[in-house]
Amino acid sequence: MNYCDVWIRGIKGIFSWQSKENINIGARVRVKLRGKLRTGIILKVSKNKPEFKTQDILEVWDEEFIPSAYIEIAREVAEENFSSLEKVLSLTIPEKFFSTKNPEKRNNSYALQIVPENIRGEKQKQAVEIIQKNQGIISEEELRKDISLVTIKGLIEKGIITEKKGKITSIFSAQQKTRPSFTLTVEQQKVVEEIRKSKKPVLLFGVTGSGKTEIYKKLAAEVSEDGQVLFLVPEIALTPQLIAELYSVFGDILAVWHSKLSEGEKVQEWSRIQSGEARILIGARSAVMIPLVNPKLVILDEEHEWTFKNEFAPRFQTHDIVEKIVSRFNAKLVLGTATPRLESFHKCEIGEWHRVDLPNRVHEVQLPEIEIIDLSNEAKKGNFSPISDSLEQELREILKQKKQAMIFLNKRGFAGSTMCKVCGHTFECPNCTSNMKMHERFGDQKFICHVCGHLENFVVTCPECEAENFQFKGWGTQALEKELKERFPGIKVFRADADSVSGKQDFEKLMDKFHEGQADVLLGTQMIAKGLDFDNVELVGVILADVGLNLPDFRSEERVFQLLTQVSGRAGRRKKRGRIVVQTFRPEEKIFQFVRHHDSEGFLQWQSELRKKSNMPPFSAMAKITFSDVKKEVAFKEAKKFFNFIKDNFKDGCYLAPAFFPRTHNKYHFHVFIREENKEKLIKFLKQIEIPENSKVDINPASLL
Ligand SMILES: [Zn+2]
Ligand SMILES: [Zn+2]
Repeated sequence: MNYCDVWIRGIKGIFSWQSKENINIGARVRVKLRGKLRTGIILKVSKNKPEFKTQDILEVWDEEFIPSAYIEIAREVAEENFSSLEKVLSLTIPEKFFSTKNPEKRNNSYALQIVPENIRGEKQKQAVEIIQKNQGIISEEELRKDISLVTIKGLIEKGIITEKKGKITSIFSAQQKTRPSFTLTVEQQKVVEEIRKSKKPVLLFGVTGSGKTEIYKKLAAEVSEDGQVLFLVPEIALTPQLIAELYSVFGDILAVWHSKLSEGEKVQEWSRIQSGEARILIGARSAVMIPLVNPKLVILDEEHEWTFKNEFAPRFQTHDIVEKIVSRFNAKLVLGTATPRLESFHKCEIGEWHRVDLPNRVHEVQLPEIEIIDLSNEAKKGNFSPISDSLEQELREILKQKKQAMIFLNKRGFAGSTMCKVCGHTFECPNCTSNMKMHERFGDQKFICHVCGHLENFVVTCPECEAENFQFKGWGTQALEKELKERFPGIKVFRADADSVSGKQDFEKLMDKFHEGQADVLLGTQMIAKGLDFDNVELVGVILADVGLNLPDFRSEERVFQLLTQVSGRAGRRKKRGRIVVQTFRPEEKIFQFVRHHDSEGFLQWQSELRKKSNMPPFSAMAKITFSDVKKEVAFKEAKKFFNFIKDNFKDGCYLAPAFFPRTHNKYHFHVFIREENKEKLIKFLKQIEIPENSKVDINPASLL
């Protein structure tokens, strides 16, 4: 007899059932729990009879719903991140798979094969027209609204349409695109060869505009002939150009996974992947645990992006999971970036990964020229606006030549802070230790907390002294938009930030319009920093490069460098050399030397030395254990008790600190940091002590704040 642990989503705890037949870990089964039919997934199979009585498994729905290798990986991820296996699995498995009906048995779709000439009768004609209007594919549900099953079967028999298992997501039409041949440069071709040969994970270290995407496409095309490809990007919504490009090459065999898919769409994409119909899965970090049948290549694009760390339990780093996947399935791993994480750079230095460089842009396009502007000089000249004289000149030139510019400011809203000029009153969020920022939203003026999203109406008079005289400090994208319009009459500006763009489609539309030349300037937050490629953009302005530089986090310079490199990579990607104007109050900071010379290598070496000296990751591993409570004393007491216990019994070098925003979402937070030589030792140490239940454990946190 086999005794199986079955996990049923939505039911607390794991229960056991029995089966005479051999049964796989990862199978999807039907069982009866407290008299009710349930659907669950087998997590463990054992020959040892439990002490309690077990019932029979009623039916096996999918023998290999999740390959056992993926269950093992999920188990490791849970262990290493102090979370549970169910939580890790819940990340991706659509809830519908746990319903008592088998969702896979529904939702077929029909695709148009040819534009047919031998259609008979009005009904068939009508059906074909409907499918054509849907770009060649339609779900069964949609088509059946107007067309009978008899008509559909007739069209299938004639070969005019085909029936497909699982619907293709509505974003794309499903027509198989013709496969273009790849024209790689000699340099790119060499890189492809080197990646093919490498037995280790490959860090593809290539400057912006060096054509990393061409290399991914080439590798994916090869691998997808007989295996599957997992293609991970930092954020699906912000990479419309890449997805469109992949879709134009791969068409039907591409599956897309993102958080906005409906449950039904998730089930369909999942099924297409499992059936092998989809060979390439593109998604953000939540797609990493979607079980592929035969993964042969994993691509992590823009590997330095911090969105690859899951900030909620289970707090995993995507890099760690893909390494597990490739080693179990003997697949290739390629991580691409122009500015590697220190962790990844370090792995290459110690020989764990193989580094391949692409130091030049394609078609001999030069990297843009970068000018660093000292904003304190501007202030001395009496220019207190966010636009320096240099940037103004460059912008005038761009407008004259009918080119386009992108302007980057990583602060939303109108102003950084608002203060009453009479009594000094400031507007603090009631839930957080953070100033609320003034925004204009749909014509209304609002105060918004950037930490928790709390929203209040803007007041005309000071609540303390009733004066009507406010001082606004700092610039946000909205203030900048106004300034640009005042200073350059007739200029057309698009603004892309969380206030003006509400979703993926909004963003895509705006980017398309900018691409078509409907605006002179695209102004935005980090939303516009990555992955975008516009032929006509020859100038990028960075309004305030200091944002984020003075944070008490050993990674603050790394992040700013990555962001500035990404932003400046948006200019001059075609024929002409682009220009970048970077404004800062602190031009003397060493980081700007590296920025000016596009010197990622130098920057990484410099940071490596600093980290090594201070024994910070990647030269050590770190855990951040956070205690939170509505009462400050309670949070502090808990944190202090734990901190003392570690310090007195085990090690020095741990420390206790209030969070950077001491109070957010109505709670106070204190962190205890513990360091060890490496991750394995750190986890082992944490497993042997007792970590209080009410704390949050974050291994190698992305942020110390
Ligand atoms: Zn006042
Ligand atoms: Zn708040």
